[in-house]
Amino acid sequence: MAASELKIFCPATIANISCGFDVLGVALDSVGDEMIIRKVAEKGIRITKLTGQDLPTETHLNVAGVAGLALLGESDYDGGFEIEIHKKIKAGSGIGSSAASSTGAVWAMNELLGTPFPPLELVKFAMEGERLASGVAHADNVAPALFGGFTLVRSYEPLDIVPIASPPQLWATVIHPQIEIRTSDSRKILKTNITLADGIKQWGNLGGLIAGLLMEDYDLIGRSLTDHIVEPIRSILIPGFDKVKSDAISAGALGCGISGSGPSIFAFSKGEDTAKKVAAAMKGIYQKIGIEYDVHVSKVNVEGVRTL
Ligand code: ADP
Repeated sequence: MAASELKIFCPATIANISCGFDVLGVALDSVGDEMIIRKVAEKGIRITKLTGQDLPTETHLNVAGVAGLALLGESDYDGGFEIEIHKKIKAGSGIGSSAASSTGAVWAMNELLGTPFPPLELVKFAMEGERLASGVAHADNVAPALFGGFTLVRSYEPLDIVPIASPPQLWATVIHPQIEIRTSDSRKILKTNITLADGIKQWGNLGGLIAGLLMEDYDLIGRSLTDHIVEPIRSILIPGFDKVKSDAISAGALGCGISGSGPSIFAFSKGEDTAKKVAAAMKGIYQKIGIEYDVHVSKVNVEGVRTL
């Protein structure tokens, strides 16, 4: 008999990755939401349990509910689902908290229904959850949460997602200073026009980063982790950002930038030992400033959302 319940892990993700604003993301291994999705006869979606964070459980106000309803709207299944969400990712941290819940919900529902929808359709459903969270239906956290590894959103219309191989020794360090920045606020401060000169630098780096990942060229990855457009503006909202970045690089990181819309800051390193040294350097800054923080040291999660 087919399963009527799934327990899953849906990873946290780093979006933007310096030069890849709104198009690039990568999945993490050491942090993610856990969820239980249950097929039930009663139509619709109910969030029956939510632990770990103070978030709405009304279906229309929770990203898992909204993404799930988008899937149900396209399905001929005439029952419903119950969802338990055990948040391990803090909302508003900048490591894809909303994307993990919405991606996990639609992936598990699709599995329980016998996979009627291809992955790209699941991305579209989960993007409806992102629209609720931030006002913009972006795919740069959802895609890596679903596929694992690095993903490039080559185009939004039509949606075209390209999974990019990850070099085996690439590790991420993420520090989350406990200050709140809403995605919607950090979008408002961005300019809507860029100069051609900035565009040239940015797409040079984006091409370099993709090539570096594919060629396993860690130096090229490091040289390409530069953002001329968004970081100079958004970093102003993150206390200690410049010092965290310079100390992370002094500790051996290949590069360092804002994770998603912040306030989390990520660094990539070659190997776990360096990633841990980078974590220690980053922590030191917030200990000095006196801001609480969480740190994650993680290899790249190449699998994406999975059953537990
Ligand atoms: P992040 O980049 O960490 O995902 P966002 O600011 O994009 O953070 O999303 C968090 C917003 O989404 C908050 O306003 C939160 O109330 C809302 N939200 C609704 N449901 C969820 C959920 N299941 N998980 C996380 N955030 C949720």
